[in-house]
Amino acid sequence: MGATAGLVLVLNSGSSSIKFQLVDPVAGPALLSGLVEQIGEPDSAIADHAAGLRLIHRQLSDSGIDLAAVRAVGHRVVHGGDLFYAPTLITDEVVAEVARLAELAPLHNPANVIGIEVARTDFPDVPHVAVFDTGFFHSLPAAAASYAIDHDVASRYGIRRYGFHGTSHEYVAGEVAAVLVRDLGELNTIVLHLGNGASASAVRGGVAVETSMGLTPLEGLVMGTRSGDIDPGVLFHLNRTAGLGVDKLDELLNRRSGLKGLCGVNDFRELLEQRAAGGASGEAAALAYDVYIHRLRKYVGAYLAVLGHVDAIAFTAGVGENAPEVREDALAGLDGLGITVDRERNRAGRGARIISADGSRTTVLVVPTNEELAIARAAWQFV
Ligand code: ADP
Repeated sequence: MGATAGLVLVLNSGSSSIKFQLVDPVAGPALLSGLVEQIGEPDSAIADHAAGLRLIHRQLSDSGIDLAAVRAVGHRVVHGGDLFYAPTLITDEVVAEVARLAELAPLHNPANVIGIEVARTDFPDVPHVAVFDTGFFHSLPAAAASYAIDHDVASRYGIRRYGFHGTSHEYVAGEVAAVLVRDLGELNTIVLHLGNGASASAVRGGVAVETSMGLTPLEGLVMGTRSGDIDPGVLFHLNRTAGLGVDKLDELLNRRSGLKGLCGVNDFRELLEQRAAGGASGEAAALAYDVYIHRLRKYVGAYLAVLGHVDAIAFTAGVGENAPEVREDALAGLDGLGITVDRERNRAGRGARIISADGSRTTVLVVPTNEELAIARAAWQFV
C-alpha cells in the first residue's frame, strides 16, 4: 500500500443501509468502498446497524488492509441545525444534540446517530468526526435563509433555509478553483449537484450565498422522486379536496413526485431510454425531461442575478457528470449572457474538465464530486 500516513473510514448511515469508504485523505482515491443494505428489513440477514458494521469490519479485514491504519472515522450527518456547521469531534454531548436535531430531519438524523454509536463502539480508540450536510450553507445571508412567514413561528420552530449536499457543493467549488488555477476567494460559481437528490448553489469567493434546498431537502430542483418547488397551496387544496393527511402528502411529494411522478421512472438513464422509445410513455418522459430542464434554467438565471457576475458553472453528481444533453439543454441559448457550451467538449472527456467554448465569459465545467474524500479530509484534521 506504500507509505501512507493513515486512513479514514467514512460512513454514511441511512435508516436501512450503511455506505462506507476507506480513504487515504492525503493521496485521495478510495482504497475500498461498499454498501450494506436492507438492514433491519424483513427476511434480511442483517438484523441491525451493529450487524451491518460487523459485516463492513469483516470486508475491511478480508481485503488485507491493516485496520490499525484507520486513524479516524468520518460520519456524514445530514442536519446540523443552527448548532453545528464545522466538522465536529464527536462526544456524547454531540451525539445527544444530533439526536435532538432529528426534529428537523426525522428520516436521517436518527439513522446517523445509530451509525455513530455503533462505530464508536467498534473503533473506540480513534477520533470520530461529524461532517454536516447543512454545514456549508450556514453562511447564507439572512435574506436568502429566511422564509417570509410569521417571524415568531419561524424562530420558535427553527424554520429557515438550511440547505443540503453542502459537502459536495463546497468540494466542487474548491475543485473549480483548482481546475481554473484561480484563487477560490476571487471566484463566483454556480454549482449544480444533479443526482437522485438535486440542488443548486451560488458560491461567492468560496462562501455559499444561496442554495435551492430549504428546511428539508424537498425544495428547489426537480429530483428523482421529490417535487422540488411547489405552491404550498397545493397541499391545502389536496388536503381539503382529496382528504390527504400530512403523512400522505409527505409521501406524495417525497416519494411519488419529481421525475417518477411525471413519467413513472426516477432513474435518469431509464428516463432517457423511455423518451427515446416514444409512444405515450415516451411523451411522459419527454415532459418530465422538459420540466427538469426548465427548472434548472430558472435556477441558473436566478443565481446569475444573485451573484451579478459568474466566473464558473459546474455540473456534478450522477446526472450532472454523465448526461451531456442535460448540460447542453440547461444552458442552451445563453450566449448573450456570456455562457456558451462547446458541443464537442461537452460530449467528450472524463474527470474534471472545461466544457465551455473558448470565448465563453463564464467557464462551464464538469466536476466529479467526492463527498467521501471531503469528509475524510475534514476528519483528518482531528488526527
Ligand atoms: P445519489 O443522489 O444517490 O448519490 P447519484 O449522484 O449517484 O445519486 O446520481 C444518480 C442519478 O444519476 C440516477 O438518476 C442515474 O440514472 C443518473 N445517471 C448515472 N449515470 C448516468 C448516465 N450515464 N446518463 C444519465 N444519467 C445517469
